[in-house]
Amino acid sequence: MLLQKIAPPCQTPHLRRIWTDLCQEQMRKVTGNIPKKLPIPGVDKVILVASGKGGVGKSTTAVNLAIALRGEGHSNRVGLLDADVYGPSIPTMMNLDDSPELNDQNVMLPLLNYGIKCMSMGFLVKKDNPIVWRGLMVMSAIQQLTRQVRWGPLDYLVVDMPPGTGDAQLSLSQTIVVDGAIIVSTPQDIALIDARKGTEMFRKVNIPVLGIVQNMSSFTCSNCGHREDIFKREGARNLSSELSIPILVDIPIHRSIMECADQGHPIVVSKPESESAKLYYQLADSVQKLLPLKATQQPG
Ligand code: ADP
Repeated sequence: MLLQKIAPPCQTPHLRRIWTDLCQEQMRKVTGNIPKKLPIPGVDKVILVASGKGGVGKSTTAVNLAIALRGEGHSNRVGLLDADVYGPSIPTMMNLDDSPELNDQNVMLPLLNYGIKCMSMGFLVKKDNPIVWRGLMVMSAIQQLTRQVRWGPLDYLVVDMPPGTGDAQLSLSQTIVVDGAIIVSTPQDIALIDARKGTEMFRKVNIPVLGIVQNMSSFTCSNCGHREDIFKREGARNLSSELSIPILVDIPIHRSIMECADQGHPIVVSKPESESAKLYYQLADSVQKLLPLKATQQPG
């Protein structure tokens, strides 16, 4: 809480003076500590894919969104940054496990699959090694993945964020120029509470929240065609009207979404004609409309 926002608790001139000095010192600390936001060289739009909780389908959404964007005329101009340094999933989902090479300026070159430039902490540490890092190390890792990688030229960089609203999320949000965030949530209250916190965090650091992806809300039986709303049907819809942000897409649970992700062949690549893949294209379409490229870089 900023002291300036609290009425001075003391009336004598001497104590008032001490209070004013304290306020000024705190303001100096607060303003002095705000890092400067810098763009990532050669990248037109940066999109964060975030969630309040783990396991809600954030990485699956980030991967399929990136590939769908590539398919919409941004060939070789989409990147995917796995900022989930604690539990990187992008190496598995994108079927990549090489180590990135360095160029002559000691800058890492992203790995490429399905036409997407990818970078992940998972390429830099051994598989199955748990990452037990503390705040400052996490922030430094995030800086490496954003600044020490030759990302450009890119139309879109999709960032798979770690779940929650901790150091890594703040570091990223406060140090790079971000064009918009997408919140992925399942429809239960317990997930939506954290999705709300995530939205508030982005608003505090002046990042526009483009909308919500409601994931795994329903399941349709492949035998009888009965559709079951597994969690709550209206969960994200209520959050959307409460926070005045749109639902960009509602993605049901589908076995093939999971299987394709686990096998490293995301559904947008392996079953582009499926209903599920079409939903990710719908999401990519909304993202393009909400974040049009600078006029010189419109897809041909
Ligand atoms: P998070 O990044 O939020 O931790 P993941 O994207 O890793 O979540 O997804 C968690 C698990 O749920 C993965 O096994 C993934 O394949 C699966 N999954 C995600 N979305 C769906 C969906 N719509 N239908 C079926 N499985 C899904």
